[in-house]
Amino acid sequence: MSLASPETGVSAGARSGGRSVFGPPAIDCDAHASVPSIKALMPYLDAYWRQQFTTRGIDRLSWNLTSDPPNAPISGRPDWRPKEGRPGTSLDLLREKVLDGFGVSHAILTCVYGGAALHSEDMAAVVCRAMNEWMAKEWLDREPRLRASIVVPLNNPDLAAEEIERCAGDPRFVQVSMLAAAGEPLGKRHHWPIYRAAEKHGLPVAIHAGSLYHHPPMANGYGSYFLEDYVAQAFAFESAVLSLVSEGVFAKFPSLKIVFQESGVTWLPAALWRFNKTWRGVRAEIPWVKRAPSEIVRDHIRLTLQPFDAPDGARRLERFCEQMGSDRMILFSTDFPHWHYEGTDALPVDPASDLARGILFDNPRDTYRRLDLQEALA
Ligand code: ZN
Repeated sequence: MSLASPETGVSAGARSGGRSVFGPPAIDCDAHASVPSIKALMPYLDAYWRQQFTTRGIDRLSWNLTSDPPNAPISGRPDWRPKEGRPGTSLDLLREKVLDGFGVSHAILTCVYGGAALHSEDMAAVVCRAMNEWMAKEWLDREPRLRASIVVPLNNPDLAAEEIERCAGDPRFVQVSMLAAAGEPLGKRHHWPIYRAAEKHGLPVAIHAGSLYHHPPMANGYGSYFLEDYVAQAFAFESAVLSLVSEGVFAKFPSLKIVFQESGVTWLPAALWRFNKTWRGVRAEIPWVKRAPSEIVRDHIRLTLQPFDAPDGARRLERFCEQMGSDRMILFSTDFPHWHYEGTDALPVDPASDLARGILFDNPRDTYRRLDLQEALA
């Protein structure tokens, strides 16, 4: 199903009432901006860190995460790659292909980069701070339809919470960003200062596919190929569901919303069937989990649409909603510049359906309470 081509020349300004290429208004909940190189962050470091980076040769490192190789085909669709540099580094291309091409009212940017993976707690915090300042200056200041995710140092939750507090005053930051395969299971108390700060400011926590590589991507060791690594991200998300619910994160932070980005979706009902079944037998072990795990997940976890588990996407998506007992969990995403589909073929259901309207707009609106939608949709 191809609904329209991004080359139609229909600009956002030509669509009245915030209408997207699909018809209803749309919010893109997973698009990427990439740091072109560590040099781009140098202006956002203080004199001490600039000197450290130069002296130690850090300013010449790539810092690309192994789980996000820029030259892999999946990392950049051919028509979404800039002429030079890494996919995701061109604001003009993002405007043309996503903001105007899809006609989205907002795109929420996530930046996946090596800063969050550093073992040095101080350096990780400094790089994350520089990334957030770079994001505000280089992207948000230049394009009013963009919003962003707060990048935090995952190895030091207190410094992460400080960074959330520092950025939360800027309403253009609408969520906190973490990686699926962090150093600790995501429900552990190690991460709770992050969830506490996020809940306090009404920020969902987005968990994006990716690994710090502090542990092997698969339970019994390292694979050999990027293919294994990328597919294994689904296991990391399954582990995140188990840990977040079992450790009592949602009992402790009842307003917290978690957004899985780039997780795929059809694995979730099967994983929850096993989780529910086993919980019934051993739930005395975790008395703070008072409802079936699937009910807790339905209330607290959302999933971005791409990469969607095609083929026969419409039937699979409707089946997912039936199995989960909810049509409020899926959030529209292009996953720009990653290569999951052609043209604007990102929505696997009838764009005139209620399900599509929910995915494109209502569900993102309900998830991102900090989005000011009045102006964009006027
Ligand atoms: Zn993504």
